[in-house]
Amino acid sequence: MSTPRNHIVVMKFGGTSVEDATAILRTASIVAGRLRKGLSPIVVVSAMSKVTDTLLAAAAAAGRNAREDALKLSDTLRTRHLNTAAELVTNPDRLTSLQLNIHHEFDTLDDLLRGISAVGELTPRTSDNVVSFGERLSSVIVTAAFAEQSMPSAHIDARTVILTDHHYGKAAPNEPAIEAALTEHVLPLVDLGKVPVMGGFIGSCDGITTTLGRGGSDYTGALVGGGLHAGAIEIWTDVNGIMTTDPRIVPEALRVKTISFEEAAELAYFGAKVLHPATILPAVQKNIPVFVLNSRNAENEGTRITATPPPCASPFKSIAAKKKLTIIDIVASRMLLAHGFLKSVFDVFDKHGCAIDMVSTSEISVSVTVDSKEALPAICAELSKIADVKYEGNKALICLVGEDIRGISGISGQVFSSISHVNVRMISQGASEINMSFMINEEDVDEALRSLHKNFFANPDPTIFDVEARVPMMDKV
Ligand code: ADP
Ligand code: ASP
Ligand code: MG
Repeated sequence: MSTPRNHIVVMKFGGTSVEDATAILRTASIVAGRLRKGLSPIVVVSAMSKVTDTLLAAAAAAGRNAREDALKLSDTLRTRHLNTAAELVTNPDRLTSLQLNIHHEFDTLDDLLRGISAVGELTPRTSDNVVSFGERLSSVIVTAAFAEQSMPSAHIDARTVILTDHHYGKAAPNEPAIEAALTEHVLPLVDLGKVPVMGGFIGSCDGITTTLGRGGSDYTGALVGGGLHAGAIEIWTDVNGIMTTDPRIVPEALRVKTISFEEAAELAYFGAKVLHPATILPAVQKNIPVFVLNSRNAENEGTRITATPPPCASPFKSIAAKKKLTIIDIVASRMLLAHGFLKSVFDVFDKHGCAIDMVSTSEISVSVTVDSKEALPAICAELSKIADVKYEGNKALICLVGEDIRGISGISGQVFSSISHVNVRMISQGASEINMSFMINEEDVDEALRSLHKNFFANPDPTIFDVEARVPMMDKV
């Protein structure tokens, strides 16, 4: 295994941390703080907030021949980026070169949108190209803003280092190739005392632009940290860290001070938006601690994700919810026990590249949950050849995660009695034994999270949860 480079810290800033000039200045001062500590930061940025959604909307408009709508969306983005640049950069040469760069990117984007609307078809490959402009633009603006703050920044086009396969929309990274490219293009800059800045989310395959899937900038951060064997990976976002549940639904959610790689991976996979599910893998491979931190409250110590967190007196660390799922019931009274039946069922999902979140079986049926809508009609048509199939949408998965549920008896009784008013469909305790998950109707999610949170976090273990943050909140009541 490579030698750790403990002085390198990979700092990933999400969309809200670069949403406007004020946020970018906050980001600059956080990075400058790491430099002052003698660390070598490598910065990965998302697109400015909402830009990815707008680019996808522009691509979709172009794909249905609505050329003017697409160009109008691009125009609003051009103005926003130019205004942010002008607020951040006063050095005339630097500003002129930045403005030229931004105009050049938008001219290229507009040509692309015109091309898509001329053919009236949006392929996944073209969609990745359109959506990549968000990170391409934010990264050049942030690089210039850092230089303006007297930081020795250097822009890296992420597509030269994040090398992937050609699975457009959700490309898989080629980690050995990434490691080699980082060593060639990024490490020399670090050694010169520069702060490399690159866009997250985007990569390339044989020179063609790809993306790592929505929320993929976290993954870029982890790939860079893993590839260079950094001392730490920091994910800077708009909340104080990983919380006991989504604070937008349960405002009393508490910060989790420390959590294991395994717990964080389960939470991310089962819907906690704060981390991209693949983020943990490169960090685990080299045992690099990952921190989740708040760029609006940089003093807060955030959440530390490590291999060996201390034991926790509370059974669960956090509760995640994943919405927009569909349950498919496959009933085959005669065939289920027949050799190879389950294999043929799973082969159908596999063939359509459709990931299954949860499975439960009975003597005559198997139920699975999936989050893909597009492939459903084709999958069900194929399954109907071997079984009776019905599906139901608008479902949600609730997942409670905690290493310390291992071996606790009666825990599921406590879970279900606290939400006895909610209709529960499928139940599963993962093979990892650190999660308990079940399906409910989407409309019951908020209520279920509130009830579960009240029940399991009434008396939180102060070594693991930030209970002090709760005091002022209770004073207000
Ligand atoms: P970024 O743009 O920085 O990547 P995201 O919007 O992807 O940020 O993720 C941060 C958001 O994740 C938070 O604002 C919060 O609403 C949501 N979230 C969901 N579950 C959790 C959780 N368990 N802990 C913290 N945040 C969560
Ligand atoms: N900008 C991309 C998205 O919104 C990637 C990211 O922010 O992580 O999905
Ligand atoms: Mg994110």
